[in-house]
Amino acid sequence: MDTRRDFLQKLGISSLVLPFMPLSGLATTKTEKLYDGPVLRVAIMGLGGYGTRVAEAMKSCVKAKLVGVISGTPSKIKDWQAKYSIPEKNCYNYENFDEIKNNPDIDAIYVITPNALHYDQVIRVAKAGKHVICEKPMAVNAKEGQEMIDACKKANVKLLVGYRMHFEPKTLEVIRLRNAGEFGKIMFFQGQCGFKIGDPAQWRLNKKLAGGGAMMDIGIYAINGSRYMVGEEPVWVTAQETKTNPQIFKEGVDETIQFQMGFPSGAVASYLSSYNINYLDRFYLVGEKGFAEMQPSTGYGPIKGRTHKGELTQPHITHQTVQMEEMAGIILEGKEPIVPVNGEEALKDLKIIDAIYLAAKTGKKIPLKL
Ligand code: NAD
Repeated sequence: MDTRRDFLQKLGISSLVLPFMPLSGLATTKTEKLYDGPVLRVAIMGLGGYGTRVAEAMKSCVKAKLVGVISGTPSKIKDWQAKYSIPEKNCYNYENFDEIKNNPDIDAIYVITPNALHYDQVIRVAKAGKHVICEKPMAVNAKEGQEMIDACKKANVKLLVGYRMHFEPKTLEVIRLRNAGEFGKIMFFQGQCGFKIGDPAQWRLNKKLAGGGAMMDIGIYAINGSRYMVGEEPVWVTAQETKTNPQIFKEGVDETIQFQMGFPSGAVASYLSSYNINYLDRFYLVGEKGFAEMQPSTGYGPIKGRTHKGELTQPHITHQTVQMEEMAGIILEGKEPIVPVNGEEALKDLKIIDAIYLAAKTGKKIPLKL
């Protein structure tokens, strides 16, 4: 058992993820499953595509457990109750979920609904006195993001955002190498994030629910990724928008935006965010002494990457499982993640998105103060 744990610790992965990591050639013992520490009891709000993925991933968690649901669709609640053994008393809808404040069996709510709904829902959860995990983008602009942070502070609850890449082993290895000076002075980052969006009727293409277009959904990965890959906060941004199909990408819903940012050290970055180009999932970091290339860089994995020294070989673990395990540690034990996942971290991305939209509209270089 110790050998296995030591091995994982060398990989930089919490020993608490041991039970769901099949490592061939290493003995597994039942004793590893005997976790008797605190468990974060989570209710998921929004039982759609990503909510389902998180629920499935949580089956392998030992520190976090799915115990409740909030949904507007009674039939979905019934299905989830049966599938995840959720008691009736932990089921709510969008009208009555403020009553969660009287439920001592739920610690945190994970908000996984369309982007523009996060603001109101997170504030209501905070008022109910429960910790909040919110999907990205945390809000649809920085003003709302700040108000969400303030509401959670006032209610004395934690606000975390679903930045699953902040716990991904190959990503963390690149950050470790950069901090150790392996790439030398960082000079350049390139981030490309996009896919061809389908059904024109979906909420992702409705400004009222999505708050924008590709930038809100997928471009945010390139923005956030550059911040953790370069290891600095950007100080200016320029942007150019291209729209080939105004029928699908209506006013306020961006199709493709190229943008550029500059960092205090002099490092520069260029990005592409698109709902009209497939196979865009690539990060490239260049320093004076070396480079890191990740492709895919932010998909569900396995993430693939190499540096000037060779392939990155850290193991793939289901992102959402590790995220929930680590978030339980942050909420219950005050653990500090290597890259923050709190509201303040998400607010920086929202300030950048506000500035990108302004830069694309005005054609001006916009200074950033994060
Ligand atoms: P989805 O459409 O699959 O699910 C959204 C859910 O919200 C549905 O169950 C829907 O019924 C519910 N909902 C509640 N009120 C609604 C309303 N007024 N209109 C439409 N739906 C409503 O979407 P999704 O892919 O699960 O995305 C949800 C959130 O998760 C988004 O913020 C998205 O950015 C985020 N997300 C994050 C990741 C990630 O990797 N971190 C991946 C996918 C989605």
